[in-house]
Amino acid sequence: MTIRVAVNGYNVIGRRVADAVALQSDMKLVGVAKVKPDYKANSAVEKGYKVFAADEKGEKAFRDSGIPCEGLSRDLVSASDIVIDATPEDVGSQNKQMYESLGRRAIFQGGEEHDVAGTSFVAQCNFDQAVGKKFVRVVSCNTTALCRVLHSIDEDFGISKANVVIARRAADPDESSKGPIDAVVLDPVTIPSHHGPDVNTVLPGFPVISMAMKIPTTHMHLHSLVVSVKRDLPSDDRVIDKLSKTPRLMLVSSKKDGIKSTANVMDLARELGRPRNDVFEAVVWKDSVKVIGNEIYFFMAVHQEAIVTPENVDAIRAVLDVSGARESMRMTDQSLKIKAN
Ligand code: NAD
Repeated sequence: MTIRVAVNGYNVIGRRVADAVALQSDMKLVGVAKVKPDYKANSAVEKGYKVFAADEKGEKAFRDSGIPCEGLSRDLVSASDIVIDATPEDVGSQNKQMYESLGRRAIFQGGEEHDVAGTSFVAQCNFDQAVGKKFVRVVSCNTTALCRVLHSIDEDFGISKANVVIARRAADPDESSKGPIDAVVLDPVTIPSHHGPDVNTVLPGFPVISMAMKIPTTHMHLHSLVVSVKRDLPSDDRVIDKLSKTPRLMLVSSKKDGIKSTANVMDLARELGRPRNDVFEAVVWKDSVKVIGNEIYFFMAVHQEAIVTPENVDAIRAVLDVSGARESMRMTDQSLKIKAN
């Protein structure tokens, strides 16, 4: 069976997921829906993707621009088995009614509330919970990374509590009107930020207390974690060994690799020849891992634009129940050149 996939919303997340879907041997990208014609629509057409407009106004703008438009997003959704909704925060929940009325399944993104789907998803943590569901929400970039590492640590050492401070990139690279450009903004000032409770929508077994701020960069978030464990007092090496065997993590070292910053990580992605310099893995500094008493400390970087790409592909297979977690993740990772751990 070839799964027919629509991508509704074609910018930071939608463009990446569309490209990833187009790489899957068991999927066909039916098309992508956009609000207006621009260079991104043009490049989609050049890749051979069919482009649809979000509404009649957009369709007219496409016609006027000369960029081919195949119809409205409703037509795209009707012609597909499943929709990846990659529209901005809160627009996805508004689109849900269209998906329901057309009887189509949908994958929403982390900008929506958990309730939009009732199932929040990270492939290596709870793939089976999404099987057969009509709607699933792939959690945000920060939540995805936290779930990957915390699930792994919990498996071997039993987490009693996790604390994380997140320095968030202020804007995505093409958002030139957003700031700050010379400040650190506490976002929010109150504690916890939404990230910890969001992890609990996937991993409900232990408290996660998060604090967050925005910093003047456009590439990557940086997490500082302190994880309290109850089972066994692990050594630094045991924790590193466990993380190095965890899927979709990339372990780097300041000493061995000379990687001391998020800029170095993005440069590594260029060296690896990744599409758009994407880092699909959560990146953990091996030489930051330190066990003190029953607490594990480490730093982790998250490429916000890329990390949820593999999760969206796996969520499609989970919802349609066409393969198990391990097989789906293997296919996805192979297609995106993510190294098996
Ligand atoms: P974006 O604003 O970059 O892209 C969304 C696109 O959808 C825009 O091009 C917008 O014009 C278009 N759009 C708006 N309304 C539409 C409609 N009705 N039909 C079709 N298209 C429409 O947003 P994004 O950063 O790609 O985020 C998408 C979702 O993914 C959000 O829920 C966000 O919270 C989540 N997310 C974003 C990031 C990130 O770092 N950018 C990371 C993880 C998850």
